[in-house]
Amino acid sequence: MTATVPATALSALESELAALLGERNVSTELRVRERVSVDGSRMSPIISELLPLGVADLVAFPTTADQIGLAVAAAVRLGVPVTPRGKGTGNYGQGIPMSGGLVLDLSRARAVVEVVDGLLTAEAGTPMVTCERAAQETGQQLWMYPSTVQSSLGGFLAGGSGGTGSIVHGTNDAGFVAALDVVFADGSGELVHVEGEEAQAFVHNYGTAGIIARATVRLEPLQEWCGFYASFPDFHGAQSVLRDLGALQPTPRLISADTPEISAALPEDPAFPAGRASVRGILEVSTTARATQLVEAAGGRLEDVREGPQVPLSLSVLSYNHPIEWLQKSAPGVYFHLEVGGEALIDRVDEVHAVFEGGLLHNEIGHSGPIGMLAGVYRSPEQVAAGILELNALGVGVHDPHQWNVDFQLERTVETARRTDPQGLLNPGKLNPGYGGPTKGAVR
Ligand SMILES: Cc1cc2nc3c(=O)[nH]c(=O)nc-3n(C[C@H](O)[C@H](O)[C@H](O)COP(=O)(O)OP(=O)(O)OC[C@H]3O[C@@H](n4cnc5c(N)ncnc54)[C@H](O)[C@@H]3O)c2cc1C
Repeated sequence: MTATVPATALSALESELAALLGERNVSTELRVRERVSVDGSRMSPIISELLPLGVADLVAFPTTADQIGLAVAAAVRLGVPVTPRGKGTGNYGQGIPMSGGLVLDLSRARAVVEVVDGLLTAEAGTPMVTCERAAQETGQQLWMYPSTVQSSLGGFLAGGSGGTGSIVHGTNDAGFVAALDVVFADGSGELVHVEGEEAQAFVHNYGTAGIIARATVRLEPLQEWCGFYASFPDFHGAQSVLRDLGALQPTPRLISADTPEISAALPEDPAFPAGRASVRGILEVSTTARATQLVEAAGGRLEDVREGPQVPLSLSVLSYNHPIEWLQKSAPGVYFHLEVGGEALIDRVDEVHAVFEGGLLHNEIGHSGPIGMLAGVYRSPEQVAAGILELNALGVGVHDPHQWNVDFQLERTVETARRTDPQGLLNPGKLNPGYGGPTKGAVR
């Protein structure tokens, strides 16, 4: 899929970037180019079969927000495609440089600029965990952070959706972003400050309308959290308490449940006893007694309550896609997954499990009800496509993680990009109106 970028433009860009960023922040080494040209899409057997979908010709590592602007401007003036990259954990292939060109690895632009009452401003490459710690030092916490806690602020806003804290605040396009400093592909290198609704046009569209150099996100007063671990003889028991746990007041930061099979694939921990379904939560400490009552009344067992600043993080990294990733590690090449949502995940769990051979759910309580990951034994894109229709018929909403096309406010992004990226140089290959993705059999 990689188009050829003229060698003269690449070599001019390499020299210009070396002068702007310093030689050690620019690389053409194959090892480096290959490393930054993959993301977490290997979790998808469908995308894995299509790899490599593109390889960078050149990699640059700006170390400040201003340098991000200068690097984008240099590439744009020379007509070289630019694909931004944070930590590279996005799992749809949306970070793959499908037209080659420049990968702008932002992981070295990681300064926390300011933390004030209710707001944190940081450079795009700042790890989410660094943002959370900086907030905590001021007696505050982020509204939300993804389970991939080491991923970057810019990557989470441009490629992610939600995570720990989303049970209260919803996804990251629902008010989490207060302001952004964005670079357009106009060759100016200017950081354009956008706030509120205007900033939303750059959330969750993979950098295709502008590259986030700096972001201001919302904080709230720090709460006292603990890790709550329970187990049940089966998944039905585990599911039976999820809604009540999610309704505890103050609201938990995370509530999740895994089948016994997925629980067995998680890292070894006495809180995940063999053959039992695991229920885990990040709870406000005052609610653990009530949570224990709920678990015991439903036939479950309290395994542990853990305190300390690391505990919420260690539970976050066992949420969202992670249990499926552990399941895949325990049986390489067997499972694929879908992102699913809806009350049917709890009310019709047996039917949901039966849609795919070996069907297994990791469920959480989201802002508007149950959300989850459904794993199944992978056969073919056609099998996945047919299963999506069956799930829809059961009332399950599905987000297909096996395609890289922008699928959130696509028309708005296309419209914005027409203005901000007239040459189509920002993360090419991700803005294709009408493209359904490999599971729809559509071509790009
Ligand atoms: C096991 C696993 C668990 C996950 N759990 C979650 C989760 O809980 N919640 C969630 O939302 N996601 C989750 N994800 C997806 C992903 O990890 C997160 O969305 C993460 O926050 C992405 O950040 P990143 O720095 O890795 O971004 P990258 O993968 O580097 O980039 C993501 C996308 O954004 C673009 N981009 C990167 N930086 C910028 C920038 N500064 N400006 C504009 N565009 C940019 C990239 O080109 C790419 O298209 C998970 C993935 C895996 C593999």
